[in-house]
Amino acid sequence: MRPEDILALSPAGLCCKRGSFHIDPTRPVERALITHAHSDHARAGHGAVLATQETLDLMRLRYGENFAGTTQAIRYGESVTFDSVTATFHPAGHVLGSAQIAVEAAGLRIVASGDYKNVADPTCAPFELVPCDVFITEATFALPVFRHGDPGAEIAKLLRSVALFPDRAHLVGAYSLGKAQRVIALLRQTGYDDPIYLHGAMEKLTRYYESRGVALGELRLARGATKPTLAGTVTICPPSALNDLWTRRFPDPLNAFASGWMRVRARARQQGVALPLVISDHADWDGLTTTIAATGAGEIWVTHGQEDALVHWCGTRGLAARPLDIVGYGDEDEGGEADE
Ligand SMILES: [Zn+2]
Ligand SMILES: [Zn+2]
Repeated sequence: MRPEDILALSPAGLCCKRGSFHIDPTRPVERALITHAHSDHARAGHGAVLATQETLDLMRLRYGENFAGTTQAIRYGESVTFDSVTATFHPAGHVLGSAQIAVEAAGLRIVASGDYKNVADPTCAPFELVPCDVFITEATFALPVFRHGDPGAEIAKLLRSVALFPDRAHLVGAYSLGKAQRVIALLRQTGYDDPIYLHGAMEKLTRYYESRGVALGELRLARGATKPTLAGTVTICPPSALNDLWTRRFPDPLNAFASGWMRVRARARQQGVALPLVISDHADWDGLTTTIAATGAGEIWVTHGQEDALVHWCGTRGLAARPLDIVGYGDEDEGGEADE
């Protein structure tokens, strides 16, 4: 059997015909296995959804009670068999509840990793390396220029700026699901225990993280604060809020933005970001190449992002690699192309 007989591209995305399911389909399907709750991977309207409890809860929070016909929760390490195909979920280290899905049939294992990072993150379970025959990898930051570095150093940069400008409010643009909570947790790891302010759009998801045991310290809504009390504080907001009228409530706001794209200075400048923070929930170039090599896979399928460089790198390593052109995946979770 060839890997393509187990998983192949269909108009709705990656499809396992033998098991009658899709992985992260971009159109409504009968049965969907979902890696994580970011909106380009997790859409509403499927018949049956299999995902981790956190992913199901996050989808419910975003799309409402009726986001799918039926749902089934699965734990990390747990398997479900559909006909002769077994699917097992493993942590992807991307955001709370994120999973890689290992699909096995006839002794062949394909791992669909969704989005992932092999870097410590206080808000989610660490990435687990799953040996496989075919590894399906994302390629959001698949260029050698992308090396994210130490997120702790970026947070230190933010705190130095806060200390330097005690009369100004620091606004940190961060995607609402995952990045926002990680930035808060990283701030707490340094011992920073002042209240952290939130844009209203992040409240529900952030409270959900707390309900799953992620400690985030004292959080307040910026909405409820007076202008003078916001001096010298840190507020987390969606990237799109950095340049809207909402910022008028803050004293002399200073814009920061937490994203892997902040490695590109021109991009930071263009978006009016005074303090770029290179913090990403995706693997960087070293993370991608190290992981690909470590899986032991002989064949690599590359999805959304900068596929060419990664496919080329695989070639130099003697790995069979090809891009999978799935229409509908993006990097909105880094505040890249989309503007949430
Ligand atoms: Zn994602
Ligand atoms: Zn993605």
